[in-house]
Amino acid sequence: AAGAETHSFEAEVSRLLHLMVHAVYSNKEIFLRELISNAADACEKLRHEALTNSDLTRNDPTFKITLSSDGKAGTLKVVDNGVGMSKEELIDNLGTIARSGTRAFLDQLASSSNGEDGSALIGQFGIGFYSAFMVADSVEVVSRRAGADEAWRWSSDGMGSYEIAPASDEDAPVRGTKITLYLKEDEKSFADPVTIRRVVREYSSHVPVPIRLMSYNEEAKAIDEEELTDGSALWIKPKSDITEEQYTEFYQHTAGQFDHPALTIHYRAEGRTEYNVLAFVPEHKPFDLFDPNRKGRIKLYVRRVFITDDADVLPAYLRFVRGVVDSEDIPLNISREMLQDNPILNAISKGVTNRILSELEKLANKEEEKFASVWEAFGPVIKEGLYEDPERRDQLFKLVRFNTTKGDNRTLAQYVEDLKENQTAIYYALGDSKEAILASPQLEGYQARDVEVLLLSDAVDAFWVQTALGFDGKSFKSISQGGADLDLIEKPEKEEDKGKSEEDKAKEQGDVAELVTFVKETLGEAVSDVRISARLATSPVCIVAPDYGPDRQLEKLMRSQKG
Ligand code: ADP
Ligand code: MG
Repeated sequence: AAGAETHSFEAEVSRLLHLMVHAVYSNKEIFLRELISNAADACEKLRHEALTNSDLTRNDPTFKITLSSDGKAGTLKVVDNGVGMSKEELIDNLGTIARSGTRAFLDQLASSSNGEDGSALIGQFGIGFYSAFMVADSVEVVSRRAGADEAWRWSSDGMGSYEIAPASDEDAPVRGTKITLYLKEDEKSFADPVTIRRVVREYSSHVPVPIRLMSYNEEAKAIDEEELTDGSALWIKPKSDITEEQYTEFYQHTAGQFDHPALTIHYRAEGRTEYNVLAFVPEHKPFDLFDPNRKGRIKLYVRRVFITDDADVLPAYLRFVRGVVDSEDIPLNISREMLQDNPILNAISKGVTNRILSELEKLANKEEEKFASVWEAFGPVIKEGLYEDPERRDQLFKLVRFNTTKGDNRTLAQYVEDLKENQTAIYYALGDSKEAILASPQLEGYQARDVEVLLLSDAVDAFWVQTALGFDGKSFKSISQGGADLDLIEKPEKEEDKGKSEEDKAKEQGDVAELVTFVKETLGEAVSDVRISARLATSPVCIVAPDYGPDRQLEKLMRSQKG
């Protein structure tokens, strides 16, 4: 066609597409969820832009998504009147991999060794637009950016390149995007209204833009039109009207995840600031949990209008929480910059953060096992709050679970309850893993006295123990640091010491003192001190850090970061 250009896909896209085309994945129907979710995003983006430029929506004011199927031709179209894409946007968005989720998917794929073909992995990611190639031989996207005169057609068979050409007015939507899938021979059922209805109900029934289905009726030689969903916001409905399945489906749509929520938090705050919250704690770790820019993904709405998913509604240590916050009070046309220090948003953030922490605490008290799995997935992230959010440290301490020498999933309250007589500190040991710590000779003196030690093996542990002042009046103390103040805690006498006379014991002590002097002289400058210690029970010596200054584990960490 005139003015057509051929572009190659970015190498990674080609790889992904190759996978899509050959996918033996049984859950192919999720492609529709992905296209509908993009269409809904496009409508919400434009709804937001139109707040400051109402001309953009004047020619077609009601947002909608239209699915249109033709069984005979074997096509399915997904049409939206959202923001649309310019030529550059088509090239940027549908020729490269922008989203971090897809990148993580590819990384995961590259590192999966046992010949996995990726099909199993697809289910754990929303792989977006490209998933259309699981069911289509070729895909055509015709789009007109809101406010633009010209429209563009993007088309590809998913084999390494795509074509871009100007689109004619008859072919293009007045505004927004029309995606046509030319279904593969054995995927033609996706042009069948029965299948489409089922898939939309299952994955997309609470997308906040209404969805219509138009299908060609062979017998009547006419187009049947029906509304599949009304686009009303789920979070506004009363809890009693919502089923667990509806919550799950909404979670999957908003979060772009495939797991189920471990915890659903739905409420309306009334009073000085009014807002609705529908938030979820996922069951599984998303793959970008430790992404360096570690952004939260709470969607902020103002009176049902999507504003941004980029406003730090929650602190970074709650970045795994997904969902929606819808404010009644923030001005609709607020700019992103103004959101940064908005007192209403600050009040909302505070309220929602407190509520999420208290719901987590409730879960911890009521459903131990469920909470344990949440802790397993997100504990290391929540612990970042122990130094990032000192104001809520005490609240967070109620959630924190530890592996200790007495067992797994212990709370600090349990630790303190089991303190030995004369024990005044909470002892911890840092290391790379629970097993590595347990092998440390420094634990011996504690084990011998049956004193519990927290086994800290997450990267964040070295940081929070430095700043945490204590719990319940007991300070945190590293077992590798300073003179182990263990002497005050009674130790059951060793078998071999039983029956020795006081005289013999005194002589032994004299011998040890002599040995210490000898070692000190021999090592000289290499050590700052050599001491007799209660820390050990069976090993002869160990190296410890001074009372003040970095812990040994932290020293190691700092050394490794200096490179
Ligand atoms: P994601 O939705 O996570 O960004 P996708 O692969 O689903 O990833 O889509 C890639 C990008 O293509 C989107 O971010 C968006 O910019 C653009 N896009 C896709 N579909 C549409 C659409 N219907 N209207 C406007 N833009 C779209
Ligand atoms: Mg998408």
